[in-house]
Amino acid sequence: AAESGITWGKAPCRFCGTGCGVLVGVKNGRIVATKGDPQAPVNRGLNCIKGYFLSKVLYGTDRLTKPLIRKGDTMVEASWDEAMTLIASKFKEAIAKHGPDSVAMYGSGQWTVFEGYAASKLFKGGIGTNNIEPNARLCMASAVTGLMTTFASDEPMGCYDDLDLGDTYFLWGANMAECHPILFSRMIDNRLKNPKVKIIDFGTRHTRTSQMADQYVRFTPQTDLALLNAIAHVIIRDKLYDEQFIKEHVVFKRGKENIGYGLEDKFKFADEPKLIGFDEYAAFLKPYTPEYVAAISGVPATTIVELAHLYADRKRKVTSLWTMGFNQHTRGTWVNNLVYNVHLLTGKICKPGENPMSLTGQPSACGTTREVGTFTHRLPADMVVTNPEHREKTAKIWGVDPKKIPAKPTYNATEMFRALDRGDIKVVWVQVTNPFQSLPNLSRYRTGARKGDGRFVIVSDIYPTRSTELADVILPSASWVEKEGVFGNAERRTQQWFKLVDAPGEARSDLWQTMELARRLGHGNLFPYKEVEREMWEEYRKFNEGQGKDLAPYATYATTRGLRWPVVNGKETLWRYAEGHDPYVKQGEGIKFYKNKPDHYKAVIWARPYEPAPEVPDKHYPFWLCTGRVLEHWHTGTMTGRVPELKRAYPAAVCEMHPDDAKRLGVQNLQKVKISSRRGSIVLPVELNGRSKAEEGNIFVAFFDEGKLINELCIDAYCPISGEPDFKKCAVKIEKA
Ligand code: SF4
Repeated sequence: AAESGITWGKAPCRFCGTGCGVLVGVKNGRIVATKGDPQAPVNRGLNCIKGYFLSKVLYGTDRLTKPLIRKGDTMVEASWDEAMTLIASKFKEAIAKHGPDSVAMYGSGQWTVFEGYAASKLFKGGIGTNNIEPNARLCMASAVTGLMTTFASDEPMGCYDDLDLGDTYFLWGANMAECHPILFSRMIDNRLKNPKVKIIDFGTRHTRTSQMADQYVRFTPQTDLALLNAIAHVIIRDKLYDEQFIKEHVVFKRGKENIGYGLEDKFKFADEPKLIGFDEYAAFLKPYTPEYVAAISGVPATTIVELAHLYADRKRKVTSLWTMGFNQHTRGTWVNNLVYNVHLLTGKICKPGENPMSLTGQPSACGTTREVGTFTHRLPADMVVTNPEHREKTAKIWGVDPKKIPAKPTYNATEMFRALDRGDIKVVWVQVTNPFQSLPNLSRYRTGARKGDGRFVIVSDIYPTRSTELADVILPSASWVEKEGVFGNAERRTQQWFKLVDAPGEARSDLWQTMELARRLGHGNLFPYKEVEREMWEEYRKFNEGQGKDLAPYATYATTRGLRWPVVNGKETLWRYAEGHDPYVKQGEGIKFYKNKPDHYKAVIWARPYEPAPEVPDKHYPFWLCTGRVLEHWHTGTMTGRVPELKRAYPAAVCEMHPDDAKRLGVQNLQKVKISSRRGSIVLPVELNGRSKAEEGNIFVAFFDEGKLINELCIDAYCPISGEPDFKKCAVKIEKA
């Protein structure tokens, strides 16, 4: 490398929450190559196809390099000073006329820790509004509320080592082979070495993951709730549970039911839990017989019984993994609770190879949005704005008056854009995300953004997107190794990188942009740092110290390939709550859910019922629509769409359909169909023999294609506890186009 003039630096991958380590080759101030980092413990030198093309994502020909301001229907180039003066004046005007809750920030799990921290500090501690949300609300919020309600602490107890050490893997609504390919390859490696390893894929479509699984279990959308209750039913009926574990580590609760679907403009947090006993829980499960659940889910009763026995087999190390199938769900919190129930009933938790784990979609959904707390209701280190002690602690570290941080959360992501649509929010700043492609029931929010009447939309990004086209000001951002940063991945690993190349033109980091607005609004005192990243990190670290979430000094991360928190005395933690692994669990304590003090350091098994989806197929709209990702493209395709190789490999969205459905509709492979929901229509070619196979009565469309906005069809219903919308289920009709 030295001879070729390339210097190599380390960084986590820019894309998914796996957090693969990459080596970035730089020559003459430009990234010329990337390769999997052989020293990176997550990926051990491997990258998926997106990772291999990282060197190209920053060099699309249409990179934004100058601020742009809307003049009528055109965007004209402006200086940073002009753009920031205009933005600051819009913020000041809205705050003066309508109060601080009329301005908002919509950020991202692709923010660096610094960017999320600065945005939260400015909005909550400076402007005095909780109007800050990340796009992680659309992908991870149910995982958060699932963990918080069951264990009173966010983020998993296990880690990726469970992929190497387990022997039984239950995948729920996770196409790992395409969406987390490196983690999938670790699990497959384990199976190659250990013939005992079994992979069971629960899904509503047959994917590449299903092809590699030992067993594919197809179920009717939404009935995962019933299936998990049926598994728990069998575990109790056949006395397969771990009585000692339950006695020592578990309490039982029942929450509010029939909680609605978030379709009214209202965001509720209330759950109203009541303590119940084991017998009451067993009685609650009584109706979930394998036969009843077989009838609604389509999974044979014998399979349900077999799988319950497999989950509970004392000789097996069981890990459950899930992604958006569980999290993007109108009962997302509940379905997360229900999978924890099965692990808690069987005592298969907090042990090497035996854990439940939600996989993340974005590189720092965990590190930035969850740990820093960039949701409307959150503060760093699992603290919440509703708790006066938490506000007090936050205000002390931030050096602001505790009264500045409002005690009430405002809007989840969907509600934030409903508030913009209504005109309650006047100014919204979008950073590192593309809501006007990724929100559900998209037309409503795209129309809302351009209603005028004082609404003002700012979008910071690296390329033109379906969101920048609606903006009043577009700011050109620096991305990934064009700035210094920290990301936190799905296994609690915190990874740091240094700036390796300059951003093109006048592009600047979102951190700089946020701090510049702060300065212009008179909140510059919130950011008094000389060495910005290092000093901000040391300030942020104070939130985590002694909270079971300890982070190492900044310098430690510069020389490691990341560490999994809590990091105490320089040592990372692989399994939380477990003696011998977690420094917070003393000798002799075994397993201790030490964050759940109100329940005497025990975890909660929740009685959560099966409830149907808000919209189910009927005679007018007879198909289920599911949306998601494909291997080659990442989210809305802003970056992967600029890589010619990836674009060629998967150029445009298609409608995956079952051949029998196609026959009934009289369409052949690649013929066009019009897909309509109650919210919109698009025309797409059908694919009958693709890499994934739709089940009868179900179709699947990927959401990366900016030319085909499938999210216009999605319903904007959400889990009322987590606020996360359901992109996996709505009813559509299909006609020959
Ligand atoms: Fe990047 Fe995710 Fe692929 Fe790893 S699996 S290389 S983190 S996109």
